[in-house]
Amino acid sequence: RAKAEGRNGWRFFAAAMDARAREAMQIEAALREGLARGEFLLHYQPQVDLRTGRITGAEALLRWQRSGQTLMGPGRFLPVAEETGLIGPINEWVLGEACRQAVRWREAGLPPIRMGVNLSPVQFRRQDVAAIVLRALAESGLNPAQLDLELTEGILMEQAPETAAVLQALRARGIRISVDDFGTGYSSLNYVKNFPIDRLKIDQSFVRGMTTEPNDAAIVRTIVELSHMLRLQVIAEGVETEAQLLQLKAEGCDEVQGFYYSEAVPPEHFAEMLRHPVALPRATVAQDAGPP
Ligand code: C2E
Ligand code: MG
Ligand code: MG
Ligand code: MG
Repeated sequence: RAKAEGRNGWRFFAAAMDARAREAMQIEAALREGLARGEFLLHYQPQVDLRTGRITGAEALLRWQRSGQTLMGPGRFLPVAEETGLIGPINEWVLGEACRQAVRWREAGLPPIRMGVNLSPVQFRRQDVAAIVLRALAESGLNPAQLDLELTEGILMEQAPETAAVLQALRARGIRISVDDFGTGYSSLNYVKNFPIDRLKIDQSFVRGMTTEPNDAAIVRTIVELSHMLRLQVIAEGVETEAQLLQLKAEGCDEVQGFYYSEAVPPEHFAEMLRHPVALPRATVAQDAGPP
């Protein structure tokens, strides 16, 4: 009986693998088509300075709008894009579009903000990242100081010497470098020491637990302190509640990003937020206001 089940199990597994592979191939074909047809778009999530309560940056987050379907987030298609290398051309488009959008906002008279763009480890393996970034800046006319590249620790881990040189070159032009999902990698402190970095983004997993789990609170506090001792900026991701916001403010965190303030929104909506900022709770921005 066990043997029969085993065999059935294998058959089931093989069929499932087959279905998975087929689905990946379908997604790959659809991604190619989507890129050619202009089905990708960017939503922007605000990054808010805790001292002033103002929006100081946007993170560009990729979305895919296939005709007749609901808007898709990157979790569904990014893995296939990375496996197939399509992430290269897709992310080239992301860089170009994010830079153009930042220039459009500036030309509309909105306050200049930093534009954050996520890069993929696959790009560092397959593409001349420095050339692509510099081209996006030149073609859009965006001030390099307004561009903020978000790198995961995966990128820093994989190709240390070459990556450091690429980042050094970009930074020499004034471009800023942030480490995304900080604290989730294998040797975070090593990256901080060996790479030219401007900012750490505290991973949302630590922020989620920080008001209830002493360990998460300790990790958040440590990252904030580390950042300041190294003269880096620090931003907390995934801030969803006022309690988290207040605690981050108390810890001296520079900026926050998360659903508490706003999710990622279409560019027109983001422009509205820049025009009419939503006030953060008074206690988080007033210099002298202690806890109530
Ligand atoms: P990430 O760079 O860490 O981006 C933050 C993700 O957390 C976004 O998910 C954002 O919508 C979500 N998020 C923001 N605030 C909150 C919050 O308060 N609570 C919770 N639960 N989630 C929050 P999204 O848009 O689904 O993106 C997922 C990941 O996909 C990103 O993680 C990034 O690694 C990747 N990604 C997105 N756009 C691009 C892109 O253009 N290129 C590349 N290479 N990767 C991208
Ligand atoms: Mg990011
Ligand atoms: Mg992140
Ligand atoms: Mg993340």
